[in-house]
Amino acid sequence: MLQTSAISDVRTRISAIRPAGAGVSILSMPCPKIAAAAKPGNFVNIKINAADQPLLRRPFCIHNVQGDIIDVMVKNVGRGTALLCEASCGESLLVLGPLGNSFGTGTGDFDTALLVSGGIGTAPMLFLEKTLAAAGIPFHHLVGGRSRSDLLTTSLSNVSTATDDGSEGFHGNVVQLLEKYLTEQTDAGRVKVFACGPNPMLKALASFCRARAFPCELSLESIMGCGVGICYGCMVELSNADGEKESILLCREGPVIDGNRFTT
Ligand SMILES: Cc1cc2nc3c(=O)[nH]c(=O)nc-3n(C[C@H](O)[C@H](O)[C@H](O)COP(=O)(O)OP(=O)(O)OC[C@H]3O[C@@H](n4cnc5c(N)ncnc54)[C@H](O)[C@@H]3O)c2cc1C
Repeated sequence: MLQTSAISDVRTRISAIRPAGAGVSILSMPCPKIAAAAKPGNFVNIKINAADQPLLRRPFCIHNVQGDIIDVMVKNVGRGTALLCEASCGESLLVLGPLGNSFGTGTGDFDTALLVSGGIGTAPMLFLEKTLAAAGIPFHHLVGGRSRSDLLTTSLSNVSTATDDGSEGFHGNVVQLLEKYLTEQTDAGRVKVFACGPNPMLKALASFCRARAFPCELSLESIMGCGVGICYGCMVELSNADGEKESILLCREGPVIDGNRFTT
């Protein structure tokens, strides 16, 4: 659940920007309070400029935390993300966070963490990897993309890749790669899957994990406004424990959800 007491709204400046692939940039910014409170899976909601367009903040997963600095990985898909990707060091931003819930890494019910991501869904996986590594939990990344240029594997360790067109790694999708990995890695013990990516990928993955009774957590995306449960802009429909449909506010009860709830 959202820890509202730890949320800060920070005026900061971009301290570094580096390209991470086609149309993707990683932005660093000092946000000491957010960095201190952040957990993997949390996100920030960024007011990109002082103008009234874009009016609303834009949500981004926390990609990395290094001391007082947080990084976000941004894919240029529209007006707000274009402004961020084309920004310069020193530009001012308002950053609200850390928001949302986080991945469940400390549950002790698994031996190996499998971090499955597709496209820009790889954004939260570096922070998750670092948290798992610090806790001594074995992990492996399975990263998918349509082709080589969509694979965002910079800075990750223990990575296998899959591309739809076969231009790098396994020729196929990342769920098929997971199946292959599990066939070959017979010493993985009890696995838990942590995933982020496009909804069709997450649906296929959730179904795969349900069939094998693997614990599985998914980080979802939706159109989002305030990020703190006021505007009701990020309502998504999930299944409850009885298989009935129920709506949640993704900003407060997500973005991380139990894969068993993602059935539609
Ligand atoms: C919890 C959360 C975490 C996210 N983390 C990341 C991240 O780490 N990196 C990243 O690049 N993106 C992330 N996104 C998606 C990102 O917020 C959107 O791409 C961004 O808000 C689009 O803004 P824009 O002004 O560029 O696009 P707009 O010009 O507003 O719209 C362009 C296109 O993007 C779609 N879009 C708008 N908002 C969203 C949204 N929230 N989610 C999905 N599609 C959207 C629109 O429908 C339209 O098709 C995240 C979204 C959520 C909800």
